[in-house]
Amino acid sequence: MIGLSLARELAGDGVEDVVLIEHLGAPGRGSTAKANGGIRAQFTTRSNIEFSLYTIHELEKLQRDTDGLPGFIQAGYLLFTGTEQGEAGLRTGYELQRECGVDVEWLSPAEVLAKAPFVRGDGLRAGTFHERDGLIDPHGVVQAMWDQVKATSVDLLFDHEVTSIDMDPTPSSLIVRGPGPGTIKLEAEWVVNAAGPDAKDVAALCGVDLPCEPVRRNLACTDPVSGYPAVIPMCVDLDTGVLIRRESAGFLIAYSNPDDLPGTDTSLDPNFLSELAERIGNRFPFLEDAGIHERGCWAGLYPETPDHHAIVGPTPGLPRLLHSVGFGGHGIMHSIAAARALADYVQFGESRVLDIGPLRLERFAEGDLIVESAVL
Ligand SMILES: Cc1cc2nc3c(=O)[nH]c(=O)nc-3n(C[C@H](O)[C@H](O)[C@H](O)COP(=O)(O)OP(=O)(O)OC[C@H]3O[C@@H](n4cnc5c(N)ncnc54)[C@H](O)[C@@H]3O)c2cc1C
Repeated sequence: MIGLSLARELAGDGVEDVVLIEHLGAPGRGSTAKANGGIRAQFTTRSNIEFSLYTIHELEKLQRDTDGLPGFIQAGYLLFTGTEQGEAGLRTGYELQRECGVDVEWLSPAEVLAKAPFVRGDGLRAGTFHERDGLIDPHGVVQAMWDQVKATSVDLLFDHEVTSIDMDPTPSSLIVRGPGPGTIKLEAEWVVNAAGPDAKDVAALCGVDLPCEPVRRNLACTDPVSGYPAVIPMCVDLDTGVLIRRESAGFLIAYSNPDDLPGTDTSLDPNFLSELAERIGNRFPFLEDAGIHERGCWAGLYPETPDHHAIVGPTPGLPRLLHSVGFGGHGIMHSIAAARALADYVQFGESRVLDIGPLRLERFAEGDLIVESAVL
């Protein structure tokens, strides 16, 4: 998603000689294929809010231009809490979102229940809702972008793996291994690392230690559950971190355990369903007895950084090696903003629309981290 989106943006600007190198046989088969498809502007840092707002606007346009191929359903995100601390955090996020131009609404408990009557209302204190948030089909949005990129001059090298990068000379050189024997050598003025959960390995090819690690995240789908609307907002219980949405005739349930360690295993975490069982009853007791659809459970990798923000921009000492990595659970919803920022950077030496200063790689060495508290 991140690489494809950047190739699309560069081609749209008329930049020539763009090559997209993808290890797998088609675009969108990495972490992107595992995403839940949530799109939200309800974050707690300016960077994340601005990246979402920009991308939402562009996804609305892509939806219109491609006859709905991305499957963008703007049913909103509904966040709620039953704790004093949760309410204070929600209020802070709400105020910043309003300041950034997000048309988010503050809801009383009754207003939360009016939008989601199936939520357990006992002790509920407050909620927020943003109607331009929603859900997208990750495969649909990749297809829509790929159709557009295929019609441009971008060279698409699928089944090709970058195995070596030498940034010392200008242009830099990359060694790429294809499906056939031997390797090919490419020369590039700019190299962009958009390798998702493998970003650390790709950076290491240039001797760069990137603080970006893959972390397994799991989702579960229930058997059909009748008696509820076919479309509901993404409902987020901030007190447990459990979120639900409709998936076919059942529900999809997600939860990210903040204590999970980095790793590359993408089999379903054997603890996941019991972690859900402990938490689901807090606000969604109607799902406590729902059957879990075994083949509807899956896991994938979040490309995570220590402060849950992406790294977007150049490498200290290697100014033509750019990174667009570490998007965690936000890679779809921040993809077009990140692409716009780097397309600008390549052409003008700066990002003109979005501020990528807070996302610079140096922040880790400087200890100047930006902390997102609405990590889902
Ligand atoms: C369970 C789950 C739920 C999620 N839910 C959401 C959500 O609701 N909303 C949201 O916005 N995001 C969500 N995400 C996060 C989102 O999926 C990721 O942030 C996003 O897909 C990252 O995109 P990417 O292009 O960086 O990574 P990827 O899609 O993994 O793409 C990176 C590509 O780089 C290629 N590559 C790696 N190394 C090399 C190499 N050496 N040479 C050539 N190619 C290479 C890989 O083959 C891969 O295809 C979710 C993720 C998971 C796992």
